[in-house]
Amino acid sequence: MTEKTVPEYFGSMVFDDRTMRSVLPGDVYQSLRETIDCGARLKTDVADSVAKAMRDWAVERGATHYTHWFQPLTGVTAEKHDSFIEPSPDGSVIMDFSGKELIQGEPDASSFPTGGIRATFEARGYTAWDPTSYAFIKGKTLCIPTAFCSYGGEALDKKTPLLRSMEALNKQALRILRLFGNDTAKYVHTSVGPEQEYFLITREMYDKRPDLKYTGRTLFGARSPKGQEMDDHYFGVIKPRVQEFMNDLNEELWKLGIYAKTEHNEVAPAQHELAPIYTTTNIATDQNQLMMEMMQKVAARHGMVCLLHEKPFAGVNGSGKHNNWSMSTDTGVNLLSPGETPYENAQFLLFLCAVIKAVDDYQDLLRLSVATAGNDHRLGANEAPPAIISIFLGDELSAILQAIETDTPYSGTEKKLMKLGVDVLPRFKRDTTDRNRTSPFAFTGNKFEFRSLGSSNSIACVNMMLNSAVAESLKIYADRLETADNFEETLNSMIKKTIKDHKRIIFNGNGYDPSWVKEAVEVRGLSNYPTTPDCMPHLLDEKNVKMLTSHKVFSEAELQSRCEIMLDNYCKQVRIEASTMIYIAQRMIIPAIEAYEGRLCKVIEGKKAVSDDISCESEINVVKKLSGFSDGMYEDVDKLKSVYDETGEIDSVLDQSKAIRDRMLPVMDELRSYADQAEEMVGRVCWPLPSYGELLFSVK
Ligand code: ADP
Ligand code: MG
Repeated sequence: MTEKTVPEYFGSMVFDDRTMRSVLPGDVYQSLRETIDCGARLKTDVADSVAKAMRDWAVERGATHYTHWFQPLTGVTAEKHDSFIEPSPDGSVIMDFSGKELIQGEPDASSFPTGGIRATFEARGYTAWDPTSYAFIKGKTLCIPTAFCSYGGEALDKKTPLLRSMEALNKQALRILRLFGNDTAKYVHTSVGPEQEYFLITREMYDKRPDLKYTGRTLFGARSPKGQEMDDHYFGVIKPRVQEFMNDLNEELWKLGIYAKTEHNEVAPAQHELAPIYTTTNIATDQNQLMMEMMQKVAARHGMVCLLHEKPFAGVNGSGKHNNWSMSTDTGVNLLSPGETPYENAQFLLFLCAVIKAVDDYQDLLRLSVATAGNDHRLGANEAPPAIISIFLGDELSAILQAIETDTPYSGTEKKLMKLGVDVLPRFKRDTTDRNRTSPFAFTGNKFEFRSLGSSNSIACVNMMLNSAVAESLKIYADRLETADNFEETLNSMIKKTIKDHKRIIFNGNGYDPSWVKEAVEVRGLSNYPTTPDCMPHLLDEKNVKMLTSHKVFSEAELQSRCEIMLDNYCKQVRIEASTMIYIAQRMIIPAIEAYEGRLCKVIEGKKAVSDDISCESEINVVKKLSGFSDGMYEDVDKLKSVYDETGEIDSVLDQSKAIRDRMLPVMDELRSYADQAEEMVGRVCWPLPSYGELLFSVK
C-alpha cells in the first residue's frame, strides 16, 4: 500500500469548506457560507440538510457518536457523547442526526463553573453551534464546536465572548475603512498564530511524581547539576524519540486541518515549541485547544507525558504561548501592514494608533486575561515578559511616531518631514522590529505579538480583551471622523493626540531590567500587578465594565461571574498544591530523611564500635543538619495545615485569594526550601522522588 501524502490526508477529518462544497446542495452551501462569513441567520431546513450531510460524511469515516464540543470556564474543553443510533420498528437501528441536534444541545450544566450566574434550580445549559469553526472527527466522535450559555442566555464559556468581540471589532473597523473610501470590504476579522511551548518527560518519571500528577508542576526538587546554562538545547538537534513524537503529532494535527508548521527545541532541556500558521481567531482558538489535547494524547502513545503547565520546574525556564495577532479584511488586506500609497499609510497609522491606545487604556484587562496561579510564577521572573504591560515598536517606527507628534523631520534613512496622507512610510522589515524578546507586546512588522500568555492559557481570553479594546479605540476615532468637517485635519490631530497621550506605553528597552519597573510605575504611571489577586478585581473597574458592556462582549453579570470564577480557580489551584505538598512532605520526604539519618546513625554506631578514635564528625554533622531540615518541615507542615483550614473559612473569594497568596505561598516556599536542601544531602538511594536531572534529561 502506498502511503498517503500530506496534501492527500490534510484536513481529512474536518468538515471544511472543501468538503461542504462537495457534499452540500448548492443553495444550502451558499446559505451556510453566508452564515459563516456575515453572520446571517441559519434557516431550519438548511440546518437539517447540513446535519444529514455531516452525518453521512462522519459515519463514512467511522464515527458512531457526535458531541457538542465547548470551552467552559474550567480552562479545558468539554464534550458529552451521544451516539447517532435511532431504533427502527424492526429492531434494527439507523444512524440519525437532525438539524436541531446540530444547532442546539442541552447538557446538564450544574457541574460547570458559573460564578453564581445560574441559580442551582435551573441546571440547564445550552450549547449552540458555531458554524464559523469547522466540525471535525476525533476518534469515533463527530465534534461540533459550540458556544455554551445558561438558560437566561449568559455566556458560560470562552467562545461566546470571543465571537462577540470579533463582531465588535468588525463593526468598528468597517466604519473606519468606509471613511477611507473602502466600499468593498465585507468584513474585517482578526487572525492569530499561537506559538505553543511544552515539556516532554518520560511516563516512567512522571508516574513517580505525585506533584506533577496532581498539580502539573514540581513542588519540590533541588537544582539539577546541569540545567539550561549552556544554551545547548535551544534550536538544538531534536532527539529521535522527540522527533517521532513530533511526526506523529503533525500527522494528527494535519488530519484535523491544523496548519502545524514550525517545531524546534526551546531554551530549557526537555522543552519544545510548535507553531501553526495563523488563521481566524476563533478557529485558531479551537485549534489551539485541540493541539494541546493532541500533544498529550500523542505523547502518551510514545511513553511520554507532555507538560503544559507554565512553570513545571523552578529555576528552569517556564513555558509560554505567543499570541501573534493582526486584523485583515475579507479581501486579504492586513490592516497592520503599511500600504503602498500615502493614503493607505495614514490608514495603517490609524489602526496602529488604535492598538497603542487600546493597550494603554486597557493594560489591566490584558494583564488579567493571562493571570493564573501558574502564570504568576513566570511573569516578572527573569524569563517571561514582566507583569507590566508595554509595547515594543522598534526604533524606526518609534522615530516616525515621534516625528509626527512633534512635527519634526523624520531622521530615518533620509531626513524629511512626514506628512500624513502625502508621504509614503518605509516598509518595516521584520529584523528591525523583532529584536526585543523581553517585551510583552511587540510589533513584528505586520502583526503584534503578545507574549505574556502561559502555555496552558486558552488564547480566547486575551483575544476577547484585545479585540474589544481595539474596537473601542476605533469607535472613538470613527465617531469623530464621521462628523469631521475636514477629514485629513481631524485624522492628523487624532493621530498626534494618540501618540502624545499614549506614548508612555511604548518601551523599546530591556523589560527584564529592574530599573524598568521603577520607571514604568513611578515615571510613566503604568500599572504593575504581579499576582492574580492583584489584577483580577480590575475586571470590574467601572471603565472596563463600561467598555465591555457597551460593545456587548459581556453583560455586567457575566463579568462578575468571571471575576469570581477566575479567583476561585486561583484559590483551588494553590490549595491543591498545598495539600499535595503536605502529602509528599509527610509521607515521602520526611520518612526518607529519617531513613537516611537512621542509616547514618548505624554507620556512626558501627564506626565507634571499631574504634573510639574515629570521630564520626562528618556523619554527625550531616545528621544534625538533616535533623534541622526535618524539624523545619514538620513545623511547616503543621503551619500549612492551619493556614489551609483557616483560609478555607474565608467567604469572600477575593479575600481568600489574597490570604492564600500572603499566608500560604510563603509557607510552601519555606517547606520546599528545607526539602530541597535535604535532597542535596540525602543519599540518592533513599530519595523517593526522581531528581530534576532525571526529569529534565529523561527522554533520550
Ligand atoms: P517567531 O515569532 O518565532 O519568530 P514567526 O514570527 O515566523 O515566528 O511566526 C510566529 C507566528 O505568527 C506563526 O504562527 C505565524 O503564522 C504567525 N503570523 C505570521 N503572520 C501573521 C499575521 N499577519 N497575523 C497573525 N499571525 C501571524
Ligand atoms: Mg514569536
